[in-house]
Amino acid sequence: MIDGLARDEVRVLKSYPETALPCRIKMDANENEWGLPQQVKEALIKDVLDFPFHRYPDSDGAALKGKLEEYTGVPAKNLIIGNGSDELIRYVVDAFVSPGDKVVIPTPAFSMYRFFVDLAGGVVVEVEPEQGLRVDTQKVARTAKRENAKLVFLCSPNNPTGEVIRVEDIEMVIQKSPGIVVVDEAYYEFCGRTVIDRVNSYPNLVVLRTLSKAAALAGLRVGYLAAGDDIMNYLYRVKVPYNVGSFSQMAAMRVLENRRAMDQWLDTFRSVRDEFIEDLRRVEGVTVFPTGANFVLLGIDRAHRVWKGLLKRGILVRKFGQGPLENCLRVTVCPPRQNRAFLEGLKEVLGEVYT
Ligand SMILES: *Cc1c(COP(=O)(O)O)cnc(C)c1O
Repeated sequence: MIDGLARDEVRVLKSYPETALPCRIKMDANENEWGLPQQVKEALIKDVLDFPFHRYPDSDGAALKGKLEEYTGVPAKNLIIGNGSDELIRYVVDAFVSPGDKVVIPTPAFSMYRFFVDLAGGVVVEVEPEQGLRVDTQKVARTAKRENAKLVFLCSPNNPTGEVIRVEDIEMVIQKSPGIVVVDEAYYEFCGRTVIDRVNSYPNLVVLRTLSKAAALAGLRVGYLAAGDDIMNYLYRVKVPYNVGSFSQMAAMRVLENRRAMDQWLDTFRSVRDEFIEDLRRVEGVTVFPTGANFVLLGIDRAHRVWKGLLKRGILVRKFGQGPLENCLRVTVCPPRQNRAFLEGLKEVLGEVYT
């Protein structure tokens, strides 16, 4: 009886796979394995004692948006905070996608875009990548026009490839699209390139950011979105009240107040990443995709067997199902000790798998 009651869009969905595999070294989810800076933790310890845990949060996040205005240069009125940027993807889809509407997604892509579009009954139009799994922005723009797409999703640096899409190419897609273009900048801090300063120039631009990656707050679920006044007006109609917890908002503020700590860490991070990539390039049988993010995509024959061999050694990386990425693994850049353990594990596993 219940099957007959479920919405058609929901009956065909599968539940998101539980990926909490036990491991010693976690390199599968692009988390910041360095963790929060010590200063931020100490500030939060002081905050806890007098914290109004019994009160509902400020629904609009005015204080946090003030800090985000300083951080991004975008006026607070053009920002909205979310329970992770995943929730904000949902707001955009809820506000603009009716059943049957077309949504253009270049592949390979972050899975949440399709998830929310499917849930809303929208129709995903995929755009295949160019050589090297790079996003074909010309084709994305042509497809958006041809399909009269309500939405286009771009992600830069792109997850899972690591590609940084050129700002000119992103702007070209924004200019040629008949609908809204969402630019997901979850990994912005690792490359420094952004279009967030254009949200008041292009009325059809949405930029997504998160504190889950560089800011090391994945557990507290804080994301934000920037857009012009007209889009914002509609997003606020679908926004759930009190969507971001008060302590999450406080932690996000402390991170932004200690921005120097994050900037210093990013300097360290970039040199660790460069060294890791250099080491990876020296491993025979592995193709290293260029990355502007905190992960690196590796092309490896028999990737699923390699994945298993790594897991047996306690090292968890991201594998992919059938398709263009079936012979790829995505590996989060971690502190040097873990990266070295990965390199050693990988060489051992490759020896086993290829003999
Ligand atoms: C990690 C990630 C996010 C962030 O999700 P949150 O819900 O903010 O944790 C968004 N987009 C992409 C492409 C990501 O990889």
